[in-house]
Amino acid sequence: MAARARRFAAAAKRLACAALPGQCALCGNLSQGLLCDGCDAQYWNEPRLRCATCALPLASSYVRRERDDARPHCAACLESPPAFNDTLALADYRAPLDTLAVELKFRARLAAGAEFARHLHAAFEDSDVPLPDVIVPVPLSGKRLVARGYNQAWAIARPLARRLGVRSDASLVARVRHTSAQSRLDLDTRRRNVASAFSISGDVRGKHVGVVDDVMTSGATLDAVARALKLSGARRVTNFVALRTPQD
Ligand SMILES: [Zn+2]
Ligand SMILES: [Zn+2]
Repeated sequence: MAARARRFAAAAKRLACAALPGQCALCGNLSQGLLCDGCDAQYWNEPRLRCATCALPLASSYVRRERDDARPHCAACLESPPAFNDTLALADYRAPLDTLAVELKFRARLAAGAEFARHLHAAFEDSDVPLPDVIVPVPLSGKRLVARGYNQAWAIARPLARRLGVRSDASLVARVRHTSAQSRLDLDTRRRNVASAFSISGDVRGKHVGVVDDVMTSGATLDAVARALKLSGARRVTNFVALRTPQD
């Protein structure tokens, strides 16, 4: 009897550790999809007031609007607008959804990319942002791409473009020099670091470009990408980011 109990306990432990495809990635409950219905309903599309330009969460008491634009903006975007025009973000970068970004980025769980894409498509449909002409991922450096083997932003961009019915292009924007890991640098250093780090290889004149990333932190990288696109003649840049850190 004791042996049978031990065997049962060992089997239960194996099951719990296996992260079966039939389990919700967040709570472990049985699920057909990446997330169970409960987690899907609880964590996605939180009703959060965000800056229309940078998607920073806004306290309702801090809402400021431009005269010709009824949408809310943060003080930073009003005072010194970034190079991109709009940002769509699904949720704040925090538990438990940060798990999906980590799974996608470091454990190659590409289903998380498709899940982000599905929700970004829904967020786009709910927005008044016009349809982009082309969807591009924020590129990794060649070195980091080789180290990781894939670009997590492309794992979101490709299924998103398919859902939107527009072209996606992984090589339109390239990193021209290797930058050190952003998370170790302060904001000023990050901005200087990324300012000249991107090149555009393709005709973007007059185009509306959708730029996809998994996590938006300071926005400096996306600003640098948008700046490079606009210098090459892009008319409009919209960011599609899965998760947004609440503050710099
Ligand atoms: Zn769940
Ligand atoms: Zn803003």
